[in-house]
Amino acid sequence: DDAGVPGRVRVAVRLRPRNAEESVADADFADCVELQPELKRLKLRKNNWDSDTYEFDEVLTEFASQKRVYEVVAKPVVESVLDGYNGTVMAYGQTGTGKTYTLGRLGEEDTAARGIMVRAMEDILAEISPETDSVSVSYLQLYMETIQDLLDPTNDNISIMEDPKTGDVSLPGATLVEIRDQRSFVELLRLGEAHRFAANTKLNTESSRSHAILMVHVKKSVKGRDSALLSENCNSSHMVKTFKPPVVRKGKLVVVDLAGSERIDKSGSEGHTLEEAKSINLSLSALGKCINALAENSAHVPVRDSKLTRLLRDSFGGTARTSLVVTIGPSPRHRGETSSTIMFGQRAM
Ligand code: ADP
Ligand code: MG
Repeated sequence: DDAGVPGRVRVAVRLRPRNAEESVADADFADCVELQPELKRLKLRKNNWDSDTYEFDEVLTEFASQKRVYEVVAKPVVESVLDGYNGTVMAYGQTGTGKTYTLGRLGEEDTAARGIMVRAMEDILAEISPETDSVSVSYLQLYMETIQDLLDPTNDNISIMEDPKTGDVSLPGATLVEIRDQRSFVELLRLGEAHRFAANTKLNTESSRSHAILMVHVKKSVKGRDSALLSENCNSSHMVKTFKPPVVRKGKLVVVDLAGSERIDKSGSEGHTLEEAKSINLSLSALGKCINALAENSAHVPVRDSKLTRLLRDSFGGTARTSLVVTIGPSPRHRGETSSTIMFGQRAM
């Protein structure tokens, strides 16, 4: 199993169950997909007799629990972030297929419902010690190639800094909040969501047309063998000379709830729709190109083509772990969108 292999994108597909409307309206029609999770296969129906078969790293049925989805999709990435690497977890799919359900559910009343962001923080908090380590987060929205701070609504045009030597990406203008416990993190996510809703109402748009990006910075000091020896032999004076300060490991986890992948109606009934469509297509196709380049082991990953890929530059490929979950619905009416989502996932592998 290559769960943690850097430089390769791990791709899972997750099917959401039929919703109430689909259960009634499409009662006479079969789902457009059939999953074979043990074989890690998905069959997409072409007609009543024939279907195309695709393989994924993981196939998550409508019965997969949030816990299992976290373990499959995100846990290996979180573990490598705790080891001092960068990593990305992202969800791609048509609006209404479960991206936010998968990544962003807070699960305050029902802990089983908690999504990847909350579970990742829980695992991170369990591994760090408050005296020596820290975890801090930024929460952003990327809309029409503009980065907005979801933790400070007045901060609506954040620029990306890239260190020319290390390639490290930073957002010096973004609010960074240190997290001490799970409750304050959930509060912060809720605040970010409220700000996102308000900002999008003002811009007369929908959250499905922007990317939501959570960045988690982890600093963890690792007590090496020398410091362990030191505490055992603290009376021995020569130990002082061989003392090495603890190594600090810095990792960054980026969780991206991508804009809906559906083709937006280009008739432009609402004026700004065409511009939004162009912008979403730009960033998702730039992302697709980068993912393909990683899959093909190409030396050139075209990160410069969009803000989204520039932002992910240091958390993507190289030593970073990347996990993609593509979300689909069962409805035969959305077969076309489902097919293009599956193809996006396939090209990443
Ligand atoms: P997206 O973020 O992709 O637009 P959402 O996460 O908002 O989609 O999900 C759309 C609807 O489907 C929501 O009502 C959500 O609760 C429901 N849903 C999504 N995935 C699942 C799932 N795996 N199980 C049950 N309900 C789901
Ligand atoms: Mg959503």
